[in-house]
Amino acid sequence: MQNVDVTIVGAGSAGLTLALLLAPLGLSIVVLEQGGAPHSSNINHQRVSALNLASMRVLSHIGAWPAIAATAQSYNRMQVWDADSFARIEFDAKAERLSELGWICDNEQVRVALYQQLQQHSNVRLEFNCTINSLAQSERDVLININQQQLLLSRLLVGADGVNSMVRTTMQLPLTHWDYEQQAIVATIDTTQPHQNTARQVFLPTGPLALLPLPDPQQCSIVWSCNPERAAQLLAMPAQQFNQALTAASNSVLGVLQLHNDPKAFGLKMRYASSWLRGRVVLVADAAHSIHPLAGQGMNLGLMDVAALAELISEYVNDNKDFTDNRLLRRYERWRKAEAQTLITAMEAFKRGFSNSQPLLKLVRAVGMSGINQLPWLKGQIIAAALGNSGDLPKLAQPQEKTARSA
Ligand SMILES: Cc1cc2nc3c(=O)[nH]c(=O)nc-3n(C[C@H](O)[C@H](O)[C@H](O)COP(=O)(O)OP(=O)(O)OC[C@H]3O[C@@H](n4cnc5c(N)ncnc54)[C@H](O)[C@@H]3O)c2cc1C
Repeated sequence: MQNVDVTIVGAGSAGLTLALLLAPLGLSIVVLEQGGAPHSSNINHQRVSALNLASMRVLSHIGAWPAIAATAQSYNRMQVWDADSFARIEFDAKAERLSELGWICDNEQVRVALYQQLQQHSNVRLEFNCTINSLAQSERDVLININQQQLLLSRLLVGADGVNSMVRTTMQLPLTHWDYEQQAIVATIDTTQPHQNTARQVFLPTGPLALLPLPDPQQCSIVWSCNPERAAQLLAMPAQQFNQALTAASNSVLGVLQLHNDPKAFGLKMRYASSWLRGRVVLVADAAHSIHPLAGQGMNLGLMDVAALAELISEYVNDNKDFTDNRLLRRYERWRKAEAQTLITAMEAFKRGFSNSQPLLKLVRAVGMSGINQLPWLKGQIIAAALGNSGDLPKLAQPQEKTARSA
C-alpha cells in the first residue's frame, strides 16, 4: 500500500496542468491515466483548441508554453458572420494593442509539453495504461485499487477524467445534461487562399463552421457543427463532394477548400455536474462541465478550474493548513461553478439565436451583430471574454496590470 497527498485521475490538459501547478508545493502526487503517455508522433492537428491569453499565462507559469507555442498558430484577427443575413463582427489584435488574440494549439502537443515539464519533478509519478478497479473513501483518505493489484491511499482525489468521468459516476455526483443535437465534424483542410492568421466562424442555419488557422498558411482546422442528419450526409459523401459542400458553406472565403485528412465527428452535449465535490473527491474541467465548442472555450475553462484549485491549495499549504479542508474545496466549487454557468448560458443563447431562421430573429441578430461592431464598449466586453481577460480569474491567469493591483 502506498500513501500519497494527491491523486489525479486523467492525464489530459487539465490533469497534467494541475500536477505541474501543485508539484512545487512538495506534495506527493500520482497521476493515473487509462491511455498511453503523450507522444509527439500523435501530433497531427486533427484535434486542436483555441487557447486564450489567460490559458497562455497559466501554461507559461509552469514552463510548458514555449513548447506549445512552437507548433501552434497564433491569430491576430477574428471574423464572425451570419450566412443568412448581413450580420458581421470583426476583432483585431491591433485595436486591443496586442500582437495576438489567441493560439490554435494541437491538443496532443499541449499534453506532450506538460508531460515533458513533469519529468523534472521527482515528487510526481505518472502511471499510464492503468485501470482503476475501485474507489472508496473514508473520513481520512481515498482508497484506490489499480490494476487489481496495487492499493493507493490518497488524502485528496481529483477527477480530471473527461466528459464520461468514472470518478463522477463512482462518487454518484449528479449530472445535468442535454444534447445540443449537433455533431462537430473536425478535419484539417487545404485552402487555395492564405488564412492570414485569422480565425473565422460562419453561422449557418444548420450550425456554426469554424476555420481555424494552422502553421501552414494554406491550412486550417475546421470544426463544422451541424444537426445529426446533415453530419451523416456529409460524412457519407465522397471527398470531392464534401469539399464542394465545405467551400460553399464557407462562402469561398479562403478559396477552394479540400480535405487534408479524414473528417471525424464528435457528438455535442452540455454536461454540468450539479455537485463537484464529495468528501475528499473533487471534479475539474470536462469531468465537471462540457460546453458547445462554438466559442472555443472548453479547454480554457478547464485550465482556469485547475489554476483556481491550485491557488487555493497553495494558500493552505503555505499557511500550514490542511489542504483537504472541506471549506477550501467548497470555495473552489462555488468559484468555478459560477464561471462555468456563465459560459453554459452564453453558449445556449448563441446556439439558439443562430439556429433559428425565423425572419424577425434573423433581422434582430443582423442588427445586433452589426450594432455591436459599431459600439466600442460592448465590443470591448466581448473581446475581453474571448481573450480570457474577464470574469473572476485565478491570479496566475490575470493580466499583469491586474495582478500588480491585487498584490
Ligand atoms: C470538436 C471540439 C472542439 C473543441 N475546441 C476547443 C477550442 O477551440 N478551445 C477550447 O478551449 N476547447 C475546445 N474544446 C474542448 C476541449 O477539447 C476540452 O474541454 C478539453 O480537451 C478537456 O480537457 P480535460 O483534460 O478535462 O479532458 P480530456 O482531454 O478528455 O482528458 C481526460 C483524460 O482522462 C483519461 N481518463 C478517462 N477515464 C479515465 C479513467 N477511468 N482512468 C484513468 N484515466 C481516465 C482520458 O484517457 C484522458 O486522457 C473542443 C471540444 C470539441 C469536442
